[in-house]
Amino acid sequence: MRKPLSEEKITALHGAGGELMNRLVAELRELFPLRAAGEVGLDDLDDGASLSLPQGEVVVTTDSHVVKPLSFPGGDIGKLAASGTVNDLAVMGARPVAMTLGLIIEEGFPISELKKFLSSLAEVLREVGAALVTGDTKVMGKGEMDGLVMNTTGIGVAERIIRDSGLRPGDKIIITGPVGDHGMAVLAAREGIPVEGEIKSDVSPIWPLVERALSIGGVTAMKDPTRGGLAAALNEMARKSGVGITVREEEIPVRPEVRGLAELLGISPLNLACEGRAVIGVSPDRAEAVLSALREHPLGRDARIIGEAIPEHRGKVVLETRVGGRRYLEMPLGDPLPRIC
Ligand code: MG
Repeated sequence: MRKPLSEEKITALHGAGGELMNRLVAELRELFPLRAAGEVGLDDLDDGASLSLPQGEVVVTTDSHVVKPLSFPGGDIGKLAASGTVNDLAVMGARPVAMTLGLIIEEGFPISELKKFLSSLAEVLREVGAALVTGDTKVMGKGEMDGLVMNTTGIGVAERIIRDSGLRPGDKIIITGPVGDHGMAVLAAREGIPVEGEIKSDVSPIWPLVERALSIGGVTAMKDPTRGGLAAALNEMARKSGVGITVREEEIPVRPEVRGLAELLGISPLNLACEGRAVIGVSPDRAEAVLSALREHPLGRDARIIGEAIPEHRGKVVLETRVGGRRYLEMPLGDPLPRIC
């Protein structure tokens, strides 16, 4: 008798386009009950999916996820693969509508684990009302890769596109919550660093939060501070918008556990990735209203205005330090940590 699929491990045949792959795909697609509007969807197992999209500008984004370890406090690769892509759509002002999923799996990978990660991904899609519309599964030999890689492509529709280059002098800069949680949670989990208290990744889909900000109006620019953290996001926004940005260090929310461990390791929390935050530029007349709206949502409870865009220091970020000094917050050369997303 055949073992239940959940006790099996991935073999080369699971990616070989035959009966075994069909059986795997059939079981996995039950995790995704949501259907997008369109003639051809996931259930049809056709060569592609078709979509009927609502009026607006279509936004497309893609990302491959190689996080190590695959599970970490606060999330796993499935939640990350869905949230990362949803969040890139969200910060462009787009409501997530559909997602595709490419799986590359190492031979011997437990199918129960795979199902767990896909359930996390499905949960995020349910939360934002987006559907998985098509996917692909490939298997590589044992030792030819490290476990599991997930690629997601997101499709969203925006009434008005928001760019990371839209800041104008005078705009207030909002961060929607504490920074550095994701990068530090993954690092601590990977290296087995004992943590005082708890450090959990902030990985979450931020569309519901962003939608609130957009409904108030006055949003001029947005970016999700992922690799390179807040420092990279602010520098990119300043450069592309042709403005300077000043931020007050004491206003930037950092959890004490994250700050403590970052100090110990000699890393700036401002360079560590977030996966459930947005940097939002808002015209000064709407900034307080947007901040209040964000704070009413659980993901935005700790949102803060951390600074503003200025006409001087174009392309630069000026950090007003805790002790009253001023220095440029530099663009990091790269993320201090590999494989955090
Ligand atoms: Mg982004």
